[in-house]
Amino acid sequence: MEGAREQVTDQQQTVGIDDLPIRDELRGKSPYGAPQLDVPVQLNTNENPYPLPEPLVARIAERVAEAARGLNRYPDRDAVELRTELARYLTRTGGHPVAVGNVWAANGSNEVLQQLLQTFGGPGRTAIGFEPSYSMHALIARGTGTGWISGPRHEDFTIDVDAAERAIAAHRPDVVFITSPNNPTGTAVEAETVLALYEAAQAARPSLVVVDEAYVEFSHRASLLPLIEGRPNLVVSRTMSKAFGAAGLRLGYLAAHPAVVDAVQLVRLPYHLSAVTQATALAALEHTDTLLGYVEQLKAERDRLVDELRAIGYEVTESDANFVQFGHFGGAEGSHEAWRKILDRGVLVRDNGVPGWLRVTAGTPEENDAFLDAVRALKKEQSS
Ligand SMILES: *Cc1c(COP(=O)(O)O)cnc(C)c1O
Repeated sequence: MEGAREQVTDQQQTVGIDDLPIRDELRGKSPYGAPQLDVPVQLNTNENPYPLPEPLVARIAERVAEAARGLNRYPDRDAVELRTELARYLTRTGGHPVAVGNVWAANGSNEVLQQLLQTFGGPGRTAIGFEPSYSMHALIARGTGTGWISGPRHEDFTIDVDAAERAIAAHRPDVVFITSPNNPTGTAVEAETVLALYEAAQAARPSLVVVDEAYVEFSHRASLLPLIEGRPNLVVSRTMSKAFGAAGLRLGYLAAHPAVVDAVQLVRLPYHLSAVTQATALAALEHTDTLLGYVEQLKAERDRLVDELRAIGYEVTESDANFVQFGHFGGAEGSHEAWRKILDRGVLVRDNGVPGWLRVTAGTPEENDAFLDAVRALKKEQSS
């Protein structure tokens, strides 16, 4: 990005974004920007640290070669084979039978969420999320012209159900985001909470409730997928970016009533999911069991991070994800300074802007050891 910038001509550099006739609500705003720094230990974007196993790499090459022979044609617009396999995966692991008609896929769950907001949000409409939560919900809302409402949480980062119900009744949002396990806090949401907010949202409008389960494979608890039964306005969104270790693939999906799948067809770009993406995702799904084996290792490492951080003397938020929120570093300045000092020791963690807290992704045992050494040293320095 920076290299590309250096190559633009002087004349172009005198023109900034705000000199362009962009939409008013985009003026003065910043893009999504987790720093991509070249540091030995990168534990900042909740990626899976394990590269895909070689047999899977070979299978991807095979399936992509097959797809390449047909690249003169547009891909299967409805990605039926892929959606069938995703439905099979959800049925096997999600505690609820799902058919191809219940599943939709796109380039990352971010695109799934964007399609949902294009369909159910948009100008004159609003969405609510309970913050701190995944910053892209608010950003995609903005990008689709949907108004954003920041809903409340308890001090311990669980959702304050009474306050959330009041916020839904007062604002009558068109879309409600519930992230479980939540990013960046790691907290899971109880099924009863989802049901209470769903009822509140239906009474107020009715509105679409989106349960973002990007990290559910790492959870101690069962998926909220069974809740879609009999609730056409409830959507569960998933991704292959985290548990499947395929962030570079860009494959997200949702499960919902078939009417929701029909509705997003109204906004999706034709042939949005390339034949190469479909072939790669299908190859990865053939290796589900191997990939979920890594998830077990990561869960054990996540639990070790929680225990060791507490032993060092940090506060840790209960985590059901592949990352851990830790602190407390006083206010926003304290957490930023701590972030910097951990970075100086060669470990990149994430400052999500939650004052006093940082987030570390569970990496390999070696990476986690390096992180623990860094924060142990930091603790010593800060308490001396
Ligand atoms: C990482 C993440 C996603 C995944 O986005 P992709 O576009 O599928 O990579 C979705 N939701 C949450 C809460 C996340 O943290």
